[in-house]
Amino acid sequence: MNYLNKRTVEDIDVAGKRVLLRCDFNVPLDDECNITDTKRIDEAIKTINYLLKNNAKVILCSHLGRPKGEFNLKYSLKPVAVYLSKVLGKNVVLASDVVGESAKKVVENLREGEVCMLENLRFEKGETQNDPEFSKKLASLADIYVNDAFGTCHRAHSSTAGVAEYLPSACGFLIKKEITIMSQVLENPKRPFVAIIGGAKVSDKIEIINSLLNKVDVLIIGGGMSYTFMNALGYSVGNSLCEKDKLEIAKEIMTRAKEKGVKLVLPVDTVIGKEFSENTEYCTVDMDRISENWMGLDIGNRTVQLFSDVINKAGTVIWNGPMGVFEWSNFSKGTVEIARAIAESGAVSIIGGGDSAAAAEKFGFADKITHISTGGGASLEFLKGGELPGLSALDDK
Ligand code: AMP
Repeated sequence: MNYLNKRTVEDIDVAGKRVLLRCDFNVPLDDECNITDTKRIDEAIKTINYLLKNNAKVILCSHLGRPKGEFNLKYSLKPVAVYLSKVLGKNVVLASDVVGESAKKVVENLREGEVCMLENLRFEKGETQNDPEFSKKLASLADIYVNDAFGTCHRAHSSTAGVAEYLPSACGFLIKKEITIMSQVLENPKRPFVAIIGGAKVSDKIEIINSLLNKVDVLIIGGGMSYTFMNALGYSVGNSLCEKDKLEIAKEIMTRAKEKGVKLVLPVDTVIGKEFSENTEYCTVDMDRISENWMGLDIGNRTVQLFSDVINKAGTVIWNGPMGVFEWSNFSKGTVEIARAIAESGAVSIIGGGDSAAAAEKFGFADKITHISTGGGASLEFLKGGELPGLSALDDK
């Protein structure tokens, strides 16, 4: 899929127009509904400010959490509107519904260079069903639709896909940045091109691995999914995560890598725990020494060294999925060290959202990464060359 020809917000005249801007304000909240990480909102500021400066009437919309089609104060976008009002230095009026009387009134009162916000899109059942009736109602509030919510582009919902059928459309600066950087890397990577894939399950990553085998020079596999590969090679993996029904697929992947001349690098040692719990007894063993009732919960030091050596020589690195149960300090070292190796490698580096992005940020390496995608699922879909309905729906230049 080539999305580089999509119209951007700079290609359209927005002055005096009502612009429905789909953002990703799905931010984490604490028990008192305080925002604990504003990154997603901050990423949207550039497009919002551009629209305001160009005299658009800006109507912001987003989902937040999973309210399942019903109004629920816990998932109100109020904290986002309050935060944005401060950052923009302008009052962001929040409608008390999505497409009802309140939304219509708030939009009606909006003047050029002003901004308002609709309530959580997922208060309406039609949103996730991509219901044409709901899409039409949403579209009727605006003259132009701009999507800047990269993190939801892999979903065909009303606010990400359906609404674009009824309005002229374009993408915002965040989406433009995401697709430009990731397309450049996929089309013309500095070599050696190294992909590091980790995380829990092989089954979730088969498609991306298969697609990457056509592009990369080296494929590193770590995390929970590596034990299925080790088991397919004949190693005993004790109680480690192992998808027995994916052993054949793991074998096929290894054969295909060989055929394509892609070097496949697997762990050589692992930190094993007695149980799947944070404070369980643990030790590091070689890959062929996993005791029967123990489980691999991180990569070991020798593996960190092995992977880091490959990363140090890379021209381009893409990373998706942690090397172990990084949420627990006893099993986070492998993920920390791989994040460090990528940050210090000097390679063009892309982290595909989700847990690996959280890890790079948590451990303080984020500012040394070329690009951390704002969308886990969306970036995976993009990197494997799949279709993203939220991008397909937008007008071409
Ligand atoms: P994914 O969403 O597939 O990228 O998987 C991320 C999750 O995989 C994280 O919550 C990790 O704790 C988990 N994970 C990584 N390595 C292991 C492992 N060796 N055993 C169990 N869970 C793991």
